[in-house]
Amino acid sequence: MKFIVAFLLCLVVHSCLSEKVRYDGYKLYKFTPRTAEAVQALVELEQGDFSEYNFWSSVGPVGIPVQIMVPPYKISEVHHLAERVGIDAEVMMENVQDYIDAEERPATYDTGFGWERYHTLSEINEWLVNLRDTYPEVVTLIEVNATYEGRTILGVKVQYPTSNVSQSVFVESTIHAREWITSATTTYILNELLTSTNTTISELARKHVWYFFPVFNPDGFQFSHTTDRMWRKTRVPHSVLCIGADPNRNWDYHWGVAGTSNSPCTEIYRGPEPFSEPSCRVMSEYIDGIADQLLAYISFHSFSQLLLIPFGYTHEHIGNYDKIYQIGLKSAEALAQRFGTQYRVGTVYETIYPAAGSSPDWVKGKYGTPIVYTYELRDLGVHGFLLPPEQIIPTSEETLDSFITIFKEYEAYETNNVV
Ligand SMILES: [Zn+2]
Repeated sequence: MKFIVAFLLCLVVHSCLSEKVRYDGYKLYKFTPRTAEAVQALVELEQGDFSEYNFWSSVGPVGIPVQIMVPPYKISEVHHLAERVGIDAEVMMENVQDYIDAEERPATYDTGFGWERYHTLSEINEWLVNLRDTYPEVVTLIEVNATYEGRTILGVKVQYPTSNVSQSVFVESTIHAREWITSATTTYILNELLTSTNTTISELARKHVWYFFPVFNPDGFQFSHTTDRMWRKTRVPHSVLCIGADPNRNWDYHWGVAGTSNSPCTEIYRGPEPFSEPSCRVMSEYIDGIADQLLAYISFHSFSQLLLIPFGYTHEHIGNYDKIYQIGLKSAEALAQRFGTQYRVGTVYETIYPAAGSSPDWVKGKYGTPIVYTYELRDLGVHGFLLPPEQIIPTSEETLDSFITIFKEYEAYETNNVV
């Protein structure tokens, strides 16, 4: 028992910084609530202080599954609860640590920057600097200061000197630290825009100015590599015991109205006030400076295989919903063509769960940017956040097909004036 208490304290306060958190015996469950009482029970678990249940997705309405990682000493308790209130429980992972171990590949696996393993923050940043050095006429390095731990958020601007463009596209990923597949995919897309010999891609690259920020939450991402693979939030200490706020619930647009928590110990803690998280605040200031040029804002998350439309704070639809929904369907169709991967399309609020204070809500709400989407990449919960490295390239390839289609279809709509 003493060991368990010490281990929990270690998890909560991260006094065990020198060692990686292990998830031996932790199981990933898919819980599907069958009754309103079951939904309420799940909400209470999610919102509870010092909850030892780690939510991999948020609670939705009756019938919508929630993925929750359960520690070994809570397994019988959770089964009793499921039976009592009416929750279907399915084990997705018998032992989460096995999946973490399977994900790791030695740094010598590929020595350059490739897409056969996941990269650390310093490897990604070094690669961005190298892009600037390799394509000095096209790539500008952007350094946005600074995060809570004093890190620079690194991005690149891609603009071909021959192109006569005014509209720009902004891409962000890994605002949630543990969603490693997202920065792997966006660096792949960025690389293709710079190097592809496919004319559809190279022509698209020249049509817009591109902003790529592969790691939006570098403090959290670094921590997910060094210490806790399942870390999601920032690293700002908001309470004595619990660190971090959810950086995708912290943006100043209808902040806190739905799908967030005011408890610092939860995964969806919105922070004490809008833009309390320095990484969100500095990026919002940067985006504000380029917002009048923005054609599109695309954010990348994992997992669930969804292409989502704002808003997350309300069920009300955005002004150009019909157009963006139809383009989304075409984009999801294009994604499925390569490997048959199925995506659903819809608003955040209606398709998954209410979630206020996200960066896409803020961009759409504040600036009315025409194209705003959020990808939830692979998979459907078999691996969840721990997508095996051999899936990085297929995921990136199909996502690129879909990404290109967004712009192609938008242009077609504009040209034909179809709404
Ligand atoms: Zn996310």
